[in-house]
Amino acid sequence: MRPFTSTIFAEMSALALRTGAINLGQGFPDTDGPPSLLADAAANITGGVNQYPPGPGVPALRAAVAEHQSRFHGLSVDPEHVLVTTGATEAIAAAVLALCEPGDEVVTFQPYYDSYAATVALAGATLRAVPLRPTPLRPPTFGFDADELRAAFSPRTRVVLVNSPHNPTGAVFTAAQLTRIGELAAEHDAVVVSDEVYEHMVFSDAPGGPAHIPVATLPGMAERTLTISSAGKTFSVTGWKVGWVHGPPELVAAVRAAKQYLSYVSGAPFQPAIAAALALPDAFFTDLAAGLQRKRDLLSVGLGAAGLTVYPSAGTYFVITDAAPLGVTDGVDLCWRLPELVGVAAVPVSGFCADPELGRTLVRFAFCKRDEVLTEAVDRLAGLPAHL
Ligand code: PMP
Ligand code: GLN
Repeated sequence: MRPFTSTIFAEMSALALRTGAINLGQGFPDTDGPPSLLADAAANITGGVNQYPPGPGVPALRAAVAEHQSRFHGLSVDPEHVLVTTGATEAIAAAVLALCEPGDEVVTFQPYYDSYAATVALAGATLRAVPLRPTPLRPPTFGFDADELRAAFSPRTRVVLVNSPHNPTGAVFTAAQLTRIGELAAEHDAVVVSDEVYEHMVFSDAPGGPAHIPVATLPGMAERTLTISSAGKTFSVTGWKVGWVHGPPELVAAVRAAKQYLSYVSGAPFQPAIAAALALPDAFFTDLAAGLQRKRDLLSVGLGAAGLTVYPSAGTYFVITDAAPLGVTDGVDLCWRLPELVGVAAVPVSGFCADPELGRTLVRFAFCKRDEVLTEAVDRLAGLPAHL
């Protein structure tokens, strides 16, 4: 684990704290989730719901996840085949640990959420990370080259780790892209582990339309897909760490075998509260996306005005910029200096890459913050060209 001793998010958050900078690095909202959710969890704590919940999760939450998948995605899920985990992070880790032996290969895309590489290393497996690069489309988005994707597969491929909406690029994969990934997974008899934590954060101007497409909804894919999500993003409670995974019974059983020796269980008072929140009216979910889209615009306009190239974000909490037009040659160096230069913290995209050259001058900003915080950040960033 030597290459994984600290995370870029923790380092940049610590830097922001030390310098008093506005933290647009680590992706967490600065407002709380729905009041009913908070009140339910608090009532559960004071009401004695504080001991180990059942291993697979509280029945009400497993049923609510199944109902949510039917309501939003038309997926038919048996609550028996839902496993509650300690955040999406544990679901991903348990899936990779359960499915991969040393020497097996995991195909994913880079930049990637940083736990992917660490988890694959824990399993003793090998990561094959396919680059996502800006496409020539207007507006540009990040996409993969189909030949490069094919070349990443081999007879040792066991898992394809997919994340859409995608952190950190803000890309939302289209049906055509997901179908291509699914075909290659089927050809190599690999399992798709689909990280869909940003499922409710797709914007109305996303290139493929304002809809998230779960991999399991594609023809023939439900039988080889583990679908993962979490309460952290959807309900703005990233510190609660309650996630879930569902899929074919034999795959979920394998994940459960690994999960029970990682954390066993967690989040007893949170699980029933999240079950109720998953049943909130549609307006809650559409307002979430609409509010974030406005915040994306507020920050993106400011980043552009500061002289950065902005790659439009179609979903998630994040927008990627290129600092090269400001003469920057190293995004890591810029992110270490940014709090001092203008009082704003961000994260370098190379921290999400197996090949740091890929994101050399790219910097990720999070827009899941209050409007006044974003406005202040934009004001500060306006001074960036003069300070470099
Ligand atoms: N996947 C992605 C793509 C993420 O950005 C995050 C963010 N934290 C996670 C998984 C982890 O989710 P959780 O906090 O539920 O473990
Ligand atoms: N998912 C969040 C991000 O990408 C933070 C996760 C973390 O700190 N591990 O910023």
